[in-house]
Amino acid sequence: MAVMSQRVAGFGTTIFADINALAAKHGAVNLGQGAPDFDGPPQVLAAAVTAVNGALNQYAPGIGMAPVRQAIAQHAERFYQQRLNPDTDVLVTSGATEAMFAAILGLADAGDEVIVFEPVYDTYVPNLIMAGVTPRYVALRGEDWSFDPDELAKAFNRRTKAIVVNTPHNPTGKVFSRAELRVIAELCQKHDVIAITDEVYEHILYDHASHVRLATLPGMAERTLTISSLGKTFSVTGWKIGWAVGAAPLVHAVNQAHQFITFAVSSPLQAAAATALNLPFSFFDNLQSSYQARRDRLLPVLRAAGFKVFKPQGSYFIMIDWRGVAPSYVEDDMQFARWLIEAVGVACIPASPFYQDCDKQLGKYFARFAVCKKDETLDAAAERFAKLGKL
Ligand code: PMP
Ligand code: GLN
Repeated sequence: MAVMSQRVAGFGTTIFADINALAAKHGAVNLGQGAPDFDGPPQVLAAAVTAVNGALNQYAPGIGMAPVRQAIAQHAERFYQQRLNPDTDVLVTSGATEAMFAAILGLADAGDEVIVFEPVYDTYVPNLIMAGVTPRYVALRGEDWSFDPDELAKAFNRRTKAIVVNTPHNPTGKVFSRAELRVIAELCQKHDVIAITDEVYEHILYDHASHVRLATLPGMAERTLTISSLGKTFSVTGWKIGWAVGAAPLVHAVNQAHQFITFAVSSPLQAAAATALNLPFSFFDNLQSSYQARRDRLLPVLRAAGFKVFKPQGSYFIMIDWRGVAPSYVEDDMQFARWLIEAVGVACIPASPFYQDCDKQLGKYFARFAVCKKDETLDAAAERFAKLGKL
């Protein structure tokens, strides 16, 4: 009996699981998966404990607990002057991951097309495939990972239902500029297309880069669904509390799917999310400066190791080109990641899993390092890299 459905049979194992297993086996310093090796703010952790002890342990309302929806709406107003009705325009989900899948299921029909930028975060395309939706890829290229506006314009057609925009971007660290977002906004309006944005790294920005929320551009409020989550901003990636916000009809459509996927999301962690989102501006400022310091600690290490570095403007990540660093028998990014773990003792994520099969060669010389690590972890990686010249 063929047990596996055809829908999922073509999926490999997520690269994060593969690299974590290999890194553990070889005792490598793990700069692969984007998960902090430090804890979130103590008052946020305490709020979760208080909620567990305070009998907040039964099902939450499917759309999310009222104080959390209010906190999400207030956060949007505080940072982006985006006005949201917490009762109709906010949905709490099991992380940004579920928000994206529920959005695709709730907004696109089988046979529709959805545009994604490549390299593309690894869950979107499997989500589209499971929904019977066809992905259309538009390349991000060059030093600043920019897209060709003509190529983007050509990707829109009668079947296009939505475009997914991830900014700050995983894996490249690109932050889409206001001008780039304007181009996207104009095309969405011209072709009557929905924008789904993934803004999980909205507060992790470098060198005074600013994050622009596509939903706040003229004409975009009614056609943009904004997704974000608690994990990155509050260093609690294991909590899986996320949200989708936007005009009521969009959010209602997403909830149509959400109610039959998870029904509701962890109550005590939602309660703690309200505490987190209401933290003062100083918390968010400190977060940025601590990430700036982490990135600035790792950048020179990677450069000294001989890598060509793509300086990120945001996100947890630094992309590099590894040519000239690995021995000549290393032919692609997958072999490079394996070699780096086994011979140097540092784990990274190869870039090709972020490319579709026919474009894998575009990611062949790239790999991604995570900066969301303690100083001592980054320094341990630096020590291992110092061995490079002597291998
Ligand atoms: N989107 C992007 C771009 C990500 O890098 C990640 C990784 N954490 C997620 C979504 C997943 O977010 P969550 O853990 O909230 O599901
Ligand atoms: N988003 C994280 C990353 O890109 C990992 C999430 C996961 O393990 N699926 O590293």
